Amino acid sequence: MKKPGMSIIERAKEVAEEFEYGEEDVQRATKHFIKQMNEGLERDGATMGQIPSYVTSVPNGTEKGLYLAVDLGGTNLRICSVDLLGDTKFSILQSKCAIPSELMFAKTAAELFAFLATKIEVFLQTHHSEQLLSHRRKPMEILNQNSLNREGFLQLGFTFSFAFEQHALNRGSLLYWTKGFNIPDAIGKDICGLLQEEIDKLRLPVTVAALVNDTVGTLLARSYEASGTTKTLLGAIFGTGTNGAYVEKMSNLKKMKVSDNPAPTEMIVNTEWGSFDNELSVLPNTPYDIAVDMESLHPGIQMFEKRISGLYLGEILRYAILAIAPFSTTMIIRETSLLYKQFSIDTSFLSTAAADLTSDLSAIRQELAQTLGVEANHEDSEAIRRLVLAIGRRAARLAGVAIAAVVIKSGRLSQSTPRTNLSYPAAEDKPSLISTYSFLPEASTKPAINFFGRFFQWIRAFFLQWTGRLAPKPAIIAPVTSDLPEIVDIGVDGSLIEHYPDFEALIRTALREVDGIGLEGEKRIRIGIAKDGSGVGAALVARMADLRT
Ligand code: ADP
Ligand code: MG
Repeated sequence: MKKPGMSIIERAKEVAEEFEYGEEDVQRATKHFIKQMNEGLERDGATMGQIPSYVTSVPNGTEKGLYLAVDLGGTNLRICSVDLLGDTKFSILQSKCAIPSELMFAKTAAELFAFLATKIEVFLQTHHSEQLLSHRRKPMEILNQNSLNREGFLQLGFTFSFAFEQHALNRGSLLYWTKGFNIPDAIGKDICGLLQEEIDKLRLPVTVAALVNDTVGTLLARSYEASGTTKTLLGAIFGTGTNGAYVEKMSNLKKMKVSDNPAPTEMIVNTEWGSFDNELSVLPNTPYDIAVDMESLHPGIQMFEKRISGLYLGEILRYAILAIAPFSTTMIIRETSLLYKQFSIDTSFLSTAAADLTSDLSAIRQELAQTLGVEANHEDSEAIRRLVLAIGRRAARLAGVAIAAVVIKSGRLSQSTPRTNLSYPAAEDKPSLISTYSFLPEASTKPAINFFGRFFQWIRAFFLQWTGRLAPKPAIIAPVTSDLPEIVDIGVDGSLIEHYPDFEALIRTALREVDGIGLEGEKRIRIGIAKDGSGVGAALVARMADLRT
């Protein structure tokens, strides 16, 4: 309702307040998140899927080999070949294209997967043409045999960022579509099989060796790159959608029966946290959230995702702008303006607006005019920027809830890790954690030393301690392994966390507010972008699958 005399800035402050998600909210949500994580571990059909990935170990950086990777995200399709060099490094060739919107609603799954296969063909023609040509030069009868015997084929890891139930490393059936997709024909079908069928139609020397959720891929890629320091706990995505996968103890994964002997002790679990609290018992629910959900393809589900991720933040902002616009006497919104059209604001606009520090907010005004056909003056733009900051801040704080819950549940903050290395990198941008060493007297390595020798060494050690100088010939340094506090490593990926200004800093503010993390715990959490995560992660799982056969 328009209140007489209220300016657009005052109204924007009011709306921004609706997006406040305070300390108590964060605390309560974190507790509820842990509860729903546990429910998902115990039974099928819980709010959070907690889907076993069949990946039972994380890489240590020594893995080697050339693999193909395909990443079907919510917005982009990426195809790459990854050469794992075995020293935590890799080289990567890649291509990327937007997924055509008509394929998101294709009549049959085959249409979507045929598109993927043609893109793989183009990629091979561009980057691995010799392998493709030599395969196609083979006589037909050998090719036919090869459909059974795929020797020499490139092994492909398929990163698929939708919910699927994994049956083995290379088999998984689609549970439901999320984000902007809806192809009912694909539900329940084996995703690897669908892709393999289309690849074989094009006679490509490629075997779909593994199916991997993008969060699992991110976790593995981060583990590969950050190995030698600490084992990565969590891979999290903040892109078109949001989700996370973490390392869980098998003993906690009660719903899964394992027949392997020896039974693995750990498994990566895909939380499917986008559906956390679909019941809305702790999540905020503003009128703008309600509108976004009602207009969405799948109302009532992915409620956590709908408050955090790239597909929806632009929409939340659009409804919030519509709520303040009547309070402006200067903003001109044409009748045909795209502001009235769903999905007309891309979430990248939030990053642009949050980063606009120009005195006249020219970046915001320019983008409003160009993409939405809205003429805004400085005050109008300032009001919109307030909305942006409130929506971005709430998204990051909710992201913090998910991270806090996984970290607390893992118990890693109360652990210290025995280490053989003398030091390890400190959390990025954080003050260095000083390792503790004990200085053993040199004599301990020379048992045959006489009394006078020992006496002089004692005098020398006393003198050095007193002067505070290091010995010219260093004493033997032994690491005290028991009291090194664990660094909790987290790999992240997705355009939102990569580009929205200070998204990580805002997450950290929320982490500090949570009991069980606090100021000290937050310092020990290291968050790093898993660069090219989906490609490297898929390559690593393809390698695992290859080794198991
Ligand atoms: P995918 O989800 O397909 O793997 P991305 O991680 O690139 O792809 O995420 C795409 C999502 O990120 C889209 O919803 C898009 O609106 C949003 N996005 C793209 N650029 C930015 C940006 N600069 N800042 C914030 N969000 C962005
Ligand atoms: Mg992605």
